[in-house]
Amino acid sequence: MKNIIFLICLTFSLTSITAQEKAPINIILMIGDGMGLNQITAGMYFNGNKTALEDFSSVGLAKTHSSNSLVTDSAASGTAMASGVKTLNGVVGISSKNKKPKSILEISKEKGYQTALIATSSIVHATPASFYAHVVSRKEYENIALQMSTSVVDYFIGGGKKHFNDREDNRNLIKEMSTYDIVSSLSRFDKSTASKIGHFTNRDEPNRILDGRLPLKDAVQSVLNKFDRDQKPFFMMVEGSQIDWGGHSNEIEYVISEFNDFDAAIQTVLDYTLKHPNTLVVVTADHETGGLTIPKGDIKKMRPSVEFSTVGHTASMVPVFAKGPAADTFSGIYDNTLIFNKMLDVLNE
Ligand code: MG
Ligand code: ZN
Repeated sequence: MKNIIFLICLTFSLTSITAQEKAPINIILMIGDGMGLNQITAGMYFNGNKTALEDFSSVGLAKTHSSNSLVTDSAASGTAMASGVKTLNGVVGISSKNKKPKSILEISKEKGYQTALIATSSIVHATPASFYAHVVSRKEYENIALQMSTSVVDYFIGGGKKHFNDREDNRNLIKEMSTYDIVSSLSRFDKSTASKIGHFTNRDEPNRILDGRLPLKDAVQSVLNKFDRDQKPFFMMVEGSQIDWGGHSNEIEYVISEFNDFDAAIQTVLDYTLKHPNTLVVVTADHETGGLTIPKGDIKKMRPSVEFSTVGHTASMVPVFAKGPAADTFSGIYDNTLIFNKMLDVLNE
């Protein structure tokens, strides 16, 4: 009899341990658009020889080519990471085989996750759009906005309001988005008690951080606070969108300032994981922009001297940093589509 009671107790405690181990894992994917290794290197030296990326336990490299070009654009690489398929440059959420795969954000919602998208571009721009839209061309902003308006995104912060309320079809999607509380500031976002909240940071594309845009880390903290309130597992994608734009214009101050804004947001996420260790953080880029090199520099001042080799993107592999549960699976060299597969494995654990 004693043995039976002992066995029952043992079974109970084992079950609870197993249940604890299977607690769902939060996933935070952070994409520095155009953030190649030299953008990180230059940003790190300009920032007193340090970056939040040094705290990551696992580093890998991702191949970024699209299905029709060694040099990808943000739509094809965004789709690869969001949905695990290669596609043509310019295409969002539709594979080269004309399939419309579900994104990791959509799959996480089906598993009871809360979801969020934050970008320092418009929310309909190629990178964030890859997580909820399926369109032949990234330029179909109004169509992308329409798909956003009925998406499973719980919280979003980004620009591009005009694609929702100043449209060719005269629809006002903001009025149609009745399940959302669309707020005009981050403090209103913080105060909102709604279960779905959106904040348009700009009518068009948001300003540069150099021109006084609010820090990305503030938006990240506001959304993390909502996740804490909800007490559910979550998937969030955070994009440092304008590192790419600094690369396109070959302006190193633009690149560095946007990198630093993104780096500070990474630090905010890492601070959050201290109290929420059940969170996987993955930081990567969709591609490199500008062909940035650092042929010389000043060791005394730790100041890099940089050169750009193109106003476009390059085919360079990009680093993938991971920390938290399953971080070790992100080491090695692999296709950017596997970033999706590795996150999916975590969702299916
Ligand atoms: Mg982007
Ligand atoms: Zn670009």
